[in-house]
Amino acid sequence: MSKTARRLPPWLRRPWPAGHRFQHTQQTLDALGLATICTDANCPNKGECWGRGTATVLILGNVCTRNCKFCSVGAGKPEPPDPTEPARLAQMAREMNLKYLVVTSVDRDDLPDGGAAHFRDCILEVRRQQPSMRFEILTPDFKGCQTEALDILAEALPFVFAHNVETVPSLYPKARSGGDYALSLRLLEMAKSRYGDVPTKSSIMLGLGETDAEVTRVLQDLRRVGCDRITIGQYLRPSQDSLEVVEYVRPEKFAWWKDKALEVGFAWVQSAPFARSSYFAERENAR
Ligand code: SF4
Repeated sequence: MSKTARRLPPWLRRPWPAGHRFQHTQQTLDALGLATICTDANCPNKGECWGRGTATVLILGNVCTRNCKFCSVGAGKPEPPDPTEPARLAQMAREMNLKYLVVTSVDRDDLPDGGAAHFRDCILEVRRQQPSMRFEILTPDFKGCQTEALDILAEALPFVFAHNVETVPSLYPKARSGGDYALSLRLLEMAKSRYGDVPTKSSIMLGLGETDAEVTRVLQDLRRVGCDRITIGQYLRPSQDSLEVVEYVRPEKFAWWKDKALEVGFAWVQSAPFARSSYFAERENAR
């Protein structure tokens, strides 16, 4: 890695999180014993998102059955799903006065349904208490149980269905070794065909050493499987054990990628250094 990649460029420096609302978010999550991907992935937007009273809850524990090198979530043997989690999630949504809830999870290759039933149970419990809540789920790839998982999740429609390809296929061995690019595309394709007009969404990080041609190909592949929404953001090394940043992509290049994504037909595009799958996910229009 070059020296420049070690020092954050000016467009990636952000103020330290603070403020009353940030603290309220933190206290609510702590009191309810809920994990978030905001914390576990060291998301750079935490100050902003928590400061405006939103967070992305990491259900099914914070121990992953895979060990992807772009991610800082710990790997190991997870605990069984906690049956109290749906009620705690519902309480959080009430206390934080949320209108739009993004829920994600670690990979749970240890569970026969990949954790789909727990996603469903969480949504149904929150909706029971807050019928107007809108949902977005950011799921694992449900390797080995995609059909079953999508059947189970169908019981909790509607939601935005998100699954991230994360990077270009040539970098999977290095960055997402437990993943399979074709399998991820298939999940998005199946969700689109089974759930009809439910928006599907994916996300890719730049700065891991991908080429423009490879990113263009990913955009085309995602559109080919009917993916409607995309976020394109800068990879930032979330922990000392994670992959190094190869390049800090300039904001102008992200704007250029936004035009490319719109050109290939995405209806909703966020492309900016801090764009993340759940960043301002509630916005109806991101173009
Ligand atoms: S972008 Fe998503 S993961 Fe990051 S802080 Fe915001 S809600 Fe959390």
